[in-house]
Amino acid sequence: MPLVSMRQLLDEAAKGGYGVGAFNVNDMEQIQAIMIAATETKSPVIVQASRGARKFAEDLYLFRLIQAAAELNPGIPIAMHQDHGNSFETCKSAIELGYTSVMMDGSLKEDGKTPSTFEENVEVTRKVVEYAHPRGVTVEGEIGVLGGIEDGHGAGGSGLEHVTDPDQAVEFAERTGVDALAIAIGTSHGAYKFNKKPDGSVLKMDLLIQIHKRLPHTHLVMHGSSSVPKDLQDIINKYGGKLNETWGVPVEEIQLGIKNGVRKINVDTDNRLAITGAIRKVFAETPDKFDPRDYLKPAREAMAKVVALRMTQFGQAGHAGDYTQIPITEMAKGYASGKLDTRPSLVGAK
Ligand SMILES: [Zn+2]
Repeated sequence: MPLVSMRQLLDEAAKGGYGVGAFNVNDMEQIQAIMIAATETKSPVIVQASRGARKFAEDLYLFRLIQAAAELNPGIPIAMHQDHGNSFETCKSAIELGYTSVMMDGSLKEDGKTPSTFEENVEVTRKVVEYAHPRGVTVEGEIGVLGGIEDGHGAGGSGLEHVTDPDQAVEFAERTGVDALAIAIGTSHGAYKFNKKPDGSVLKMDLLIQIHKRLPHTHLVMHGSSSVPKDLQDIINKYGGKLNETWGVPVEEIQLGIKNGVRKINVDTDNRLAITGAIRKVFAETPDKFDPRDYLKPAREAMAKVVALRMTQFGQAGHAGDYTQIPITEMAKGYASGKLDTRPSLVGAK
């Protein structure tokens, strides 16, 4: 089937009370790993590419690979999403390529590092919504600033410096009309999220619950939500790697988020760890091998295993066949008529 609107995927997830993993891709093996997992677990899925991925793989290579995934897996709803767009132009170029969803991360300035003002964020995000919705394309915004850095994007820091203010989240949703909203509740990008198992002092789940109560129609997004499991760290270190001990976001916390309005969960680090561990293992155990397929195949399998597990844990497993696809052109009509409007004043959520 053609690529599906992310909004439809998330609306269905809200109806079914589950979350949908958004997995980052840079190459063919990662896309295949996701499709192996989605087929095996019968899951709808969000595939996403950062600016760094689009540059690494080149737009056309990457997009054609996604199209191939959609063509080869007609029973799996796939949304293609731009992760952390830094400007209107980045989002526009993704939409022109055929992405069905974009994130405008206006929480940072165009350099992808410096926190912006609230007004700057509203302005650029609204501009992206005004361009995307008439084309049937979904928009995710971000309010508050996440910690850490990934693919050169991020403000750094612990993730607790700019947690989302619920009043601002409501105002932001009202003034931009975004479909989905990434909130900062103490999570960070990258592998080094927490230096101990996170508890209520670092992961502000109460804040998430408050925001969902006030914005029940805006799908919430958790970024930096890899769990960084110890067994994947151990494999890397066992075969010559040197990772410092680190903790990610426990799956139970993500599941609590899903019970409270989280519909999209971004996972990248866990897959990177699985791939690297599998490759290191082949290199260490069979140093005579030099055919890339000898290590890319186990790497692909290792990532597929992690993705399938997350799909089951997030609850999206088994839901691939629940609904028929709404064409993007119909989504555009839904936005034009106001039927898909999520602004609190218009859906009576206040
Ligand atoms: Zn992110």
